[in-house]
Amino acid sequence: MPATPEIAYFTMEIALEDAIPTFSGGLGVLAADYLRAAADAGLPLAAVTLLYHEGFFRQRVDEQGSQLESPVDWEPVELLEPLEEAVAVDLDGRPVRLGAWRYQVKGVGGAVVPVYFLDADRPENDDAARQLTDRLYLGDSGHRLRQEALLGLGGIEMLRRLGHRPTKFHMNEGHSALLVLSLLEEHEPLVVRERCVFTTHTPVPAGHDRFEAPLVERVLGEERTGQLRSLGCLETGELNMSELGIAGSSYVNAVSRRHKEVTEEMFPGVEVASVTNGVHVATWVGPSFARLYDRYISGWRVGNDLLRYGSGIPLEEIEKAHGEEKQRLLDQVVDRSGRRLDQGALTIGVARRATAYKQTTLLLRDSERLVSMAKQIGPIQVLFAGKAHPADRGGRALIEEIVAESERLSAPVEVVFLEDYDLRLASLLVAGCDVWLNTPAKPNEASGTSGMKAAVNGVPSLSVLDGWWVEGCLDGVTGWAVGTLEEGDDEAALYAALEEKVLPAYYESPNGLAELRRSAISLNGSFFTTERMVREYARFAYKIVGL
Ligand SMILES: *Cc1c(COP(=O)(O)O)cnc(C)c1O
Repeated sequence: MPATPEIAYFTMEIALEDAIPTFSGGLGVLAADYLRAAADAGLPLAAVTLLYHEGFFRQRVDEQGSQLESPVDWEPVELLEPLEEAVAVDLDGRPVRLGAWRYQVKGVGGAVVPVYFLDADRPENDDAARQLTDRLYLGDSGHRLRQEALLGLGGIEMLRRLGHRPTKFHMNEGHSALLVLSLLEEHEPLVVRERCVFTTHTPVPAGHDRFEAPLVERVLGEERTGQLRSLGCLETGELNMSELGIAGSSYVNAVSRRHKEVTEEMFPGVEVASVTNGVHVATWVGPSFARLYDRYISGWRVGNDLLRYGSGIPLEEIEKAHGEEKQRLLDQVVDRSGRRLDQGALTIGVARRATAYKQTTLLLRDSERLVSMAKQIGPIQVLFAGKAHPADRGGRALIEEIVAESERLSAPVEVVFLEDYDLRLASLLVAGCDVWLNTPAKPNEASGTSGMKAAVNGVPSLSVLDGWWVEGCLDGVTGWAVGTLEEGDDEAALYAALEEKVLPAYYESPNGLAELRRSAISLNGSFFTTERMVREYARFAYKIVGL
């Protein structure tokens, strides 16, 4: 059998640790979970990303609910290993020099996946160039294009300089698609296509990165602009990074089955595969469930599909572990917000990027109805978290709305907003809530992964049928659907599901709910994993046999 080819994985953001704040949300968390699973599997893979000296941002929210942002203070040298190698990328007609820092993701069997963080903050660069790796997603479109050029073009250059010889190039979203141009300098178009894999995460046309032709020409220069023209990527007067990624790849995939359909409509004529996202199970299982799995399902950390045997864990044990996770969360809520919530009350978690399409506050639209349900059936506590992009007024307004409701409402409906959603807070929430709520406007959710993290902790989702939940939802078995697959009234469907299914399950049928928790683990926790994802990408995208 030929040696396994080396794979290079490119991502604009990555969430390896909270202390390395080079991520904004789901895309970065997915990348990190994927690399952990690649390391567990011993896949020969190296990843490239950018180092952002100010990270994304730290979130504070004042009493009025206004989001206050501050740069993240961190010292790369404390967490990453500086490398000697440097490369240069020509941007705006002058070379921008890039160094690299290394982080090693270690797998269960000892294999290592290196992650290279490219850094333009070097004394040889002028001030403008040094600022290219300052912050994630926060500059104007010129800043963004330059960052993406460093990632794609600089990333290829750096891998070569470091002695890597990858034969597969995996673009995690369109940001790195300029790497196609670098590869075309060396290989025939057919060879480039055979080597490239493109994963899209964006179900709405407006979500795809686009840059106007004059900007592209100014930043990348005439030659590369000519290359883009000959690839047909500037025909509309704009460079669409997803189209470039697709043009350069023989394997293009969406991140859930539903998202594949949406992507095919968006890019007619393109053959789109789907690899549904997953989570790195050992990373997201809370301590009480980890102990439980250690007792009942040996080997679960390596073979996540063994969680199928969660079906044999006694219900009392599931309930006990869940109670401990919930207590841990509620203790944190006291520490973070001063609010002491009721261990016995139905606790719903809603942690989302605060942006309009996520419909984060759908549950609060008719809070009187919520109050009357709570009076009739039992109290409801809702924990919210999530950052708004600083420029997203609608997103900021959602946080204001949540904070206002948290001031206004009191038992039997309590609402708490927790600041600065990050990996640590996510771990507590997905394990400690009773129900995980997700109500984005369809079909905007490409996949979503937080509900998968909840599932490995026996926390059922209550979610609209979009993204991964179309595959994961067995209504009344692994969680509950809000509405149907077709367009519908999400608000009415949400209140109906709460009133008719979720509240009665929690308050009137604890045994039934424990069974639901167990099925969430055995049916969803065993499948929606990055271990499975790595296997699927290896077989179908990288064409590696035997993994
Ligand atoms: C998992 C995770 C996300 C992504 O979750 P979605 O379900 O896509 O909303 C975002 N941010 C953090 C901190 C996470 O842990």
